[in-house]
Formats: sequence, C-alpha cells, structure tokens
Amino acid sequence: MNHDLPAALILVLEAGLPATRRNRIRSRLDELGVSVTVVAGPDREYLEVRGDHLPVETLSPESWDGVERAISLAPEYPHAARRPESSDGSAAGSTVVQVGSATFGGGAFGIMAGPCAVESADQALRIARAVSEAGAVVLRAGVYKPRTSPYAFQGLHDPGLAILLDVKRTVGIPIVTEVMDTADIEKVAEVADLIQVGSRNMQNYALLRQLGKIRKPVLLKRGFAATLREFLLAAEYILSGGNDQVVLCERGIRSAAGTGNVVLDLGAVPELRLRTHLPVIVDPSHGSQDRARVAPLARAAVAAGADGLLVEVHDDPQRALSDGQQALTPDSFRRLVTEVAAIRTALAGLAQA
Ligand code: PEP
Ligand code: MN
Repeated sequence: MNHDLPAALILVLEAGLPATRRNRIRSRLDELGVSVTVVAGPDREYLEVRGDHLPVETLSPESWDGVERAISLAPEYPHAARRPESSDGSAAGSTVVQVGSATFGGGAFGIMAGPCAVESADQALRIARAVSEAGAVVLRAGVYKPRTSPYAFQGLHDPGLAILLDVKRTVGIPIVTEVMDTADIEKVAEVADLIQVGSRNMQNYALLRQLGKIRKPVLLKRGFAATLREFLLAAEYILSGGNDQVVLCERGIRSAAGTGNVVLDLGAVPELRLRTHLPVIVDPSHGSQDRARVAPLARAAVAAGADGLLVEVHDDPQRALSDGQQALTPDSFRRLVTEVAAIRTALAGLAQA
C-alpha cells in the first residue's frame, strides 16, 4: 500500500494493551483507508499511520479505546502550511499574490485604502483619486455590507458594482470588495481584482468552497472570535479547492478591553509568518473602530512585519453611511503612507545590519 510514504500520525497505545484490542483499532484504521505499521516498544506498541491521515485526525483518535495519545507529524492544513525553505537560497517559499498591478507577499508590500462602503458614484471616484494619489495601490470599498443591524445601510449592491467598475477604469486602480453570498461571486469577480471574505463569513464554508473553485485572489479576514488554527483551516478550504491566491487579514478580535470591544492582535502577524506561506495584511480600522488609534496601530503592524494594510478613508467622515468613526481623512492617510514608508526603510536597514 502506502508504506513508502512518511509516517504522518503516531497513535501511542496504552501500555500492555492486548492484541485483540489493538486489532480493533487497526481495523478501524483499515476501514478509513490509511496504512498502518505496528511498532513494538518494550512496554507498549505504537501505530504509525501513513497515507490519507487528515480525515483520521478529525475523528479524535486520542479518545479511542486503547489509545493513550495521538501525535500528529504533519500539518493539519497542508496547503496553507509554510513549506520548508527552498534549498537554492531564494525567498523562503512565500506566496506572492498579484492583485491587478499590486503585489503582496514575498517581500512586496502595499496599502489598500478607501471608504467602508460605496455611497455614490461621486464619493467613490473622489476618494479613489485621493487614496491613489496618496499612495494606496488597491481601492477598498464595499457594496454588499455585512451590518450588525438590519436597519443600517446595507450597501448599494449591484449599482455599487457598476460604480466600482467605472472608478477602476477611470482611476486605473485595482479593487477589493466583499462578497457575502455564493450567488454574487460571479458578478463580483468581474469587477474585483481581490474578493474579500469578511470577518463574519470566515467560517461560511459554502462560500469558501465556491471561492476555491475560481481563479481570483481572495482576501480572507480573520473571524473576530477565530483562533489562528481556525483561520488557517478556513484558508485551507479555499486553497484545497485549487485557488492558491489567498491573502490573510488580521482585523481585530473580540475583547471587552478594547474600544468597540475589539483588540487588534498584532502577535498574529509573526505567528502567521511562522505557520503559513500566505501574505498577511492588517486592518487597523476595524481592528480599533477608533480613528485616533488607526495610524499608531498601522505603524505597529508594519513594524511587526505585515505585508500590507487595509485602511478606511473617507473625505467626509461625519457624513459617512458606515464606519465614519474609524475613517481617516485623505490628509491623515497621506501622512500615514509617508510614515509607513519610513518604517519600511528603517526595517530594511535593520535587516542589512
Ligand atoms: C470591511 O472591511 O468593510 C468589514 C466589514 O470588515 P470586517 O469583515 O473585518 O468586519
Ligand atoms: Mn467598515
């Protein structure tokens, strides 16, 4: 069978487990289609599992009768997991995601900015021009908005997509916009260069599976109560479907300690860097819900090694239809872009020192 494959899972059996009970475990593994080698120790046996071990691991084998422990030797998310460094000395196998003319990952950095939502053709065009002139390389703007209240502005829907297409043609900037429903993927993909999955939909597995089938980059935002393991397994849904273009976004997690009950988890940036080859960007806007915190958190995210930022900008925050309280003005955004460039230069200097 698969005996030439490396062992991916070891089941540590109870000391002195009788052969009849061990064989029960073996036959369950046989039924699951993996190959098993029994390794005899002085006081116990070990089962080495080879082959299609991931479905077995989801069945909590450590809880099976006669099993003391299960030791996983291979990542649970093989497509998302960081690959071993390439031996030829090239960059450490990081995925580079191309979003129209913008590049993220493998050392390439970019800022996505724009309003929370498209509110009108005029507003979208004005802000697109402002953020593009300031140095944003992708325009963010939602047209299908996941709002907590059903009475809140829900976005312009299809007419909003038409506006984004116009803005993209006029300003020549790539677009990231959110999709909430599998039925909208096709039309969103016609306009968007990067398709956003919002925090609330990080575990919408039907949506993730569909996005695995298309060939457009996906911006996957971390669920606001999701562990990094759950985040990477959500990315695995898209990657295992065949779409290898995924950008991860840390956007803050639920905590009573923060403004708006959210705290930006900047530790996720270095942690994800260790665990995955995918680019990681940070959204300090939803990660703080507070304009005063956006620039400091953005600077910290860049210093922590983020591959990019996602920042909300509005030229009239007082009149914004959503998230005005966290929007930077174009002027403050321009300042932030300059500061970020200075931090990147300092980091490059440190790397050479
Ligand atoms: C957004 O980016 O507009 C948004 C709704 O973000 P999140 O899904 O992170 O709340
Ligand atoms: Mn928003």
